Amino acid sequence: MIGLTVLGSTGSIGISTLDVIGRHPDRYRVIALTANRDVDGLFNQCKSFLPHYAVMADANSASELEQKIRYEGLNIEVLSGVEGLEYVASLEDVAYVMAAIVGAAGLLPALAAARAGKRILLANKEALVVAGELFMREAAAGGAEILPIDSEHNAVFQCMPANFHKGLEKVGVTQILLTASGGPFRRLPLDQLQGVTPAQACAHPNWEMGRKISVDSATMMNKGLEVIEACWLFHTQSDRVKVVLHPQSVIHSMVAYSDGSVLAQLGNPDMRTPIAHALAWPERIVSGVEPLDLFEVARLDFEEPDFNRFSCLRLAYEAIEQGGTCPAILNAANEVAVASFLAGGIAFTAIPQVIESVLESLPGGQATGLGTLLSADAEARRYAEQMIQNWV
Ligand code: NAD
Ligand code: MG
Repeated sequence: MIGLTVLGSTGSIGISTLDVIGRHPDRYRVIALTANRDVDGLFNQCKSFLPHYAVMADANSASELEQKIRYEGLNIEVLSGVEGLEYVASLEDVAYVMAAIVGAAGLLPALAAARAGKRILLANKEALVVAGELFMREAAAGGAEILPIDSEHNAVFQCMPANFHKGLEKVGVTQILLTASGGPFRRLPLDQLQGVTPAQACAHPNWEMGRKISVDSATMMNKGLEVIEACWLFHTQSDRVKVVLHPQSVIHSMVAYSDGSVLAQLGNPDMRTPIAHALAWPERIVSGVEPLDLFEVARLDFEEPDFNRFSCLRLAYEAIEQGGTCPAILNAANEVAVASFLAGGIAFTAIPQVIESVLESLPGGQATGLGTLLSADAEARRYAEQMIQNWV
């Protein structure tokens, strides 16, 4: 039995993960489940999966959960805070850690798993955007194994040769082609973008996801973050990572080789496929996903992305090219801007404007260590919040 911690178990990825695990009770044992504030969600998962630990990042929510668990007579230890998350990410009897917290909040627990040498099923792309170099270094030093959950990166991983760690050039890979659906506003007239609502932005045409990543998909910041994520995961530079609009979301990404071959991974857009792949790798297990019906798909379209419509994509390329703390600043400003848009504070079109202003105002420097990255993150958040308060 493989012991497993699911960080962010009440979210979209967390729920899909437990769905796959529930199909293989002979193979996986849930040791810990975690959430931020969703007491009822975590309590219900605790009743089904009977983990040893349940962690709530928020202390008041943890007390509430503790009461419910005692009342129910369950033998589950309740912990709280970042320390609780780090603790269950590095437990001895946990071999695999699903890192599915949203945002930079997922960095420290994922880092704890890296240092403890776990197999990390990495959904939390923001951890790599904020601290890619450090994260990869700590994972290597700790003997951790990183398996990408993001569907594009999981697809790329599946199309890569086994020895890609030597460097893409050495193994004949010329390009990583990240596919993108283009989100719900790919065709919307530009002058209508200003007035789109959070509900419209969260109505993704092909994928059902958490609200933050749904907005990121609509601005295409999600693809920008994924370009940065790909650079770290596959040891390459952003000029080797190309974004291809593919509205059907059936090809999840591709790898191009020096001999002219292009390998692609296809499937229905359902996150249980990459989750099952990463859980079982190098074996294959049933995920619950319907087989792909190519006759129903009928056609596959490709387009070049429009960097004017999707300026978040341009900003992300610029941030990774500048390097250092710039991606952390980009990410922090984006998290603040998206939260404000979702709360009705700013217009959809203000999201890239806020991010660009923050990046222009904060110079960014060398990413010398975790302390530097976390203070760049904190400063960018403060700055973005101030800017939004004065936004007209
Ligand atoms: P979600 O909002 O549905 O769930 C987030 C989870 O993190 C919840 O369990 C929540 O309780 C927890 N959480 C939130 N803030 C926290 C905090 N401050 N401290 C501790 N826990 C906290 O998000 P999601 O859509 O499941 O996405 C999770 C991650 O996976 C994101 O990084 C996202 O980019 C990535 N991802 C998601 C999808 C998808 O299909 N949903 C696809 C690819 C990548
Ligand atoms: Mg993705």
